[in-house]
Amino acid sequence: MKFHIHTYGCQMNVRDSEAVEALLVAAGHEKAAHEGEAELVIVNSCTVRQKAEEKAIGKAGNLIAAKKLTGLMGCAVKRMGADVFKRLPKLDFAVGPRAFGLIPRIVEEGRFPRLELGDDLVPDCLAAHVEGGWQAFVTVLLGCDSRCSYCIVPDVRGHEYSRPAREVVAEVAALARRGVREVCLLGQSVLRYGVRNTAWDERDAPSPGGYTEAFPRLLEAIASIPGIERIRFTSAHPKGCTDELVRAYREFPQICRHLHLPVQSGSDRILAEMGRRYTREEYLAAVGKLRDFDPEFAVTTDVIVGYPGETEADFEATRSLMDEAGFDNAFVFKYSPRPGTRAAALADDVPVEEKERRDQVLLEDQERRGQERNDRLVGTKREVMVEGPSKRNKARLSGRDGGNRIVVWDEGAADVRPGSLVNVVIAEAHPQILVGERLPHCPTT
Ligand code: SAH
Ligand code: SF4
Repeated sequence: MKFHIHTYGCQMNVRDSEAVEALLVAAGHEKAAHEGEAELVIVNSCTVRQKAEEKAIGKAGNLIAAKKLTGLMGCAVKRMGADVFKRLPKLDFAVGPRAFGLIPRIVEEGRFPRLELGDDLVPDCLAAHVEGGWQAFVTVLLGCDSRCSYCIVPDVRGHEYSRPAREVVAEVAALARRGVREVCLLGQSVLRYGVRNTAWDERDAPSPGGYTEAFPRLLEAIASIPGIERIRFTSAHPKGCTDELVRAYREFPQICRHLHLPVQSGSDRILAEMGRRYTREEYLAAVGKLRDFDPEFAVTTDVIVGYPGETEADFEATRSLMDEAGFDNAFVFKYSPRPGTRAAALADDVPVEEKERRDQVLLEDQERRGQERNDRLVGTKREVMVEGPSKRNKARLSGRDGGNRIVVWDEGAADVRPGSLVNVVIAEAHPQILVGERLPHCPTT
């Protein structure tokens, strides 16, 4: 059957959709060239904010109206449970975020409607990858036990579970043999890898570098896999920014000098209410540690505006923290109450227009800050992994430096394949993009 998957939400969802694609292809189905051609369409949903959920449900509704065989997977399914069939009476099947491995069987059996919310993963479903490509996401930590007051993720993605290191290393080695050069390790709070359940056992060799913390030790193991030229991971928490993590950055140049370190707020009062387990000062100390190691270290973040009770003073504290941290990029979210979370019991008392204003102010601040941060890179040499033609100007190539900054340049006649590393010297800086000139390949550098 020809199928198409439509994905909303975070990288975790992108990864799960890719695994479903691989599983369906292995079961003899075929990826459609576009949605119109597909007989089966699966929507992978997000529920982190109400609007995100609405989009996925709306999309599934349109597909049902177009008489496609329609499945819904992901976080919104787990939140809604059987109610999903009240919203979408003609939906064919719905599977929760840990049950996606059942999709090939559900399609095969053809008994609809069907709902699967179980938390038991189908064996090996996490390791399924689509062939080809030079970049891959690898899930290392499932779920989350942090229970930040506003967040629905722990309810829908279940308890924190660290995959055994042996399994992760074998998966990355298999990807490397297929030509993957960059891996991004995924977890809601990925630096907690191996904290709750042990990821290492007696069959794993001791760390040659003497690492004792599970995540830096995993980085060490992955960095030694031939062919893996770049390692990224997301998302991080300041508590995980330890000396061993910095040591791993120093020892292994393959580990990209970029960390996505969601701060959420710059007000200690709000941080405590959110249950984030750090203060403004501790957060800034973590950023300082990374920038002491490398002043060009890229730090990006997530911020929530309009959390219940957020005053003008709290908001100004967030603004000043963002300046002090000197973020290279920031994603701003307007607070959205999620059913069953601790914050949902509080009055959502910041008016919509005020949330909108705070959002705009932070985005404007970030434009200016992004320009300033990028201006400092003019004249520097960046090592860039080629992605392909630039979206805006097809005559140019586009890629990312280790800091995850988008770099574009004129390639001329040379044949450069996606996934190869090139050197680009930066000539021009914009808030979200660097424009440069390709340096001739020099085998000795
Ligand atoms: N696990 C990641 C975050 C996952 S959710 C971490 O803790 O680092 C991605 C982002 O969505 C969060 O960082 C937060 O900024 C935002 N978010 C989560 N719940 C939200 C809510 N109820 N309203 C608005 N934004 C929210
Ligand atoms: Fe949500 Fe907090 Fe867990 Fe991130 S760490 S997924 S924000 S509960």
